[in-house]
Amino acid sequence: MKAHDALFIGGTWRAAAGSGSIEVVNPADEQVIGTVPAGDAQDVDAAVRAARDAFPGWAATPPAERAAHLAALRDQLAARADEIAETVTAELGAPPVLAQKVHAGLPIAVTGSYAELAATYAFEERIGNSTVLHEPVGVVGAITPWNYPLHQITAKVVPALAAGCTVVLKPAEDTPLVAQLFAEAVEAAGLPAGVFNLVTGLGPVAGQALAEHPGVDLVSFTGSTAVGRRIGAIAGGAVKRVALELGGKSANVILPSADLAKAVNVGVANVMTNSGQTCSAWTRMLVHTDQYDEAVALAAEAAAKYATPERMGPLVNGGQRERVRGYIARGVEEGARLVAGGAQTPEYAGTGYYVRPTVFADVTPEMAIAQEEIFGPVLSLIRYRDVDDAVRIANGTVYGLAGAVWAGDEAEAVAFARRLETGQVDINGGRFNPLAPFGGYKQSGIGRELGVHGLAEYLHTKSLQF
Ligand code: NAD
Repeated sequence: MKAHDALFIGGTWRAAAGSGSIEVVNPADEQVIGTVPAGDAQDVDAAVRAARDAFPGWAATPPAERAAHLAALRDQLAARADEIAETVTAELGAPPVLAQKVHAGLPIAVTGSYAELAATYAFEERIGNSTVLHEPVGVVGAITPWNYPLHQITAKVVPALAAGCTVVLKPAEDTPLVAQLFAEAVEAAGLPAGVFNLVTGLGPVAGQALAEHPGVDLVSFTGSTAVGRRIGAIAGGAVKRVALELGGKSANVILPSADLAKAVNVGVANVMTNSGQTCSAWTRMLVHTDQYDEAVALAAEAAAKYATPERMGPLVNGGQRERVRGYIARGVEEGARLVAGGAQTPEYAGTGYYVRPTVFADVTPEMAIAQEEIFGPVLSLIRYRDVDDAVRIANGTVYGLAGAVWAGDEAEAVAFARRLETGQVDINGGRFNPLAPFGGYKQSGIGRELGVHGLAEYLHTKSLQF
């Protein structure tokens, strides 16, 4: 798609207040593919005002009508699925199949789910002598990252709209084109002016202005724990609602009774998908000491299959590539054993920010590569002695976003999953459910996205007594 040299505010595309701009780069060949405005605090203020003006009307719109608008939005996105996939391939570097299935398919499914939920959700309930009203929180400031760029937009904007909130979105610098495409879809779906507003811009400028704006009632952020902590502090200071979806270091626990080959292969695929740029990726594989050597061999073999640009794209930018290479070097320094990949540039990468699919063995739980979010295609295999040891290692990081458990018997896996301090656990490869609540324990965040739990984030409750 062609980049707009404008922001989408109050239902129209308008020039930014300043003249700053952001270049969008294709990470597969390092070519500039577009330029978008770098909005500033003045633009954010204009967008928040537009959202405030639109709020009373949208909040008062019957849920069934809001649902119809969201169904129209889903149809617009579905009609442009190919263009969405191509845009995400161009600005994120995602291989076409992944772009179509996940980067385009998931946001369409999520938007459709909220078209249904808006129509059926009980916005009023009766408790004894009270009627409880579930009312929209107000104006939402959404700040999103680049790794699943449209999914993370729809996971915030669509439930907010379903709830009756209005929204100002500040998308990631690296992936603003798919955000502009989303704004075009909102416009084409005929949503009322000001209900959704888009300000592209830099995080510390436009993002911070949005988080700090007194006209924003709820800030929903997905990204790094460092920025999330800051946004949480700003929101706390202003006593406004906040939702944070931050990093992860999820454990994939393979119990001795599991199908080892399947668990390792699915586990490696989980880490390499999207070039390891997935907050919920199972980046630590925990294997019983008796099966450890076999698992290492299987993982190294499975990872090697991802060493082609068709299977695994580049990282999003040069900075992320250097960060990931730095972690690979650190793993070697810490004494972990490299069994696949490494920090050298892959031979197939002429230009582009490619990193080798990398597997470390002999990783111990206290190493940086076992504790910190790398956000790249790097898997750490850690051995455990018994079930209690596995639980202790799995829970032994500051994060708690996702995870997996594999066992011969489902009940055994579930019993283990109950002991994990984490927001999601996939049992024996259970597939992603776009209606299930998604979010973190501990420093992985506050709040939940998706499905009915994601809708509730955007609602206040008011009790009327009779
Ligand atoms: P980031 O946290 O810097 O950026 C996320 C969003 O926040 C972007 O829209 C950015 O513009 C905005 N932002 C940045 N500084 C801000 C500020 N001071 N105030 C308000 N908004 C601000 O993340 P990043 O630099 O793109 O990635 C760095 C690391 O973050 C990654 O390596 C990874 O560990 C983590 N990350 C996690 C997720 C996730 O889904 N949990 C997503 C992307 C990145």
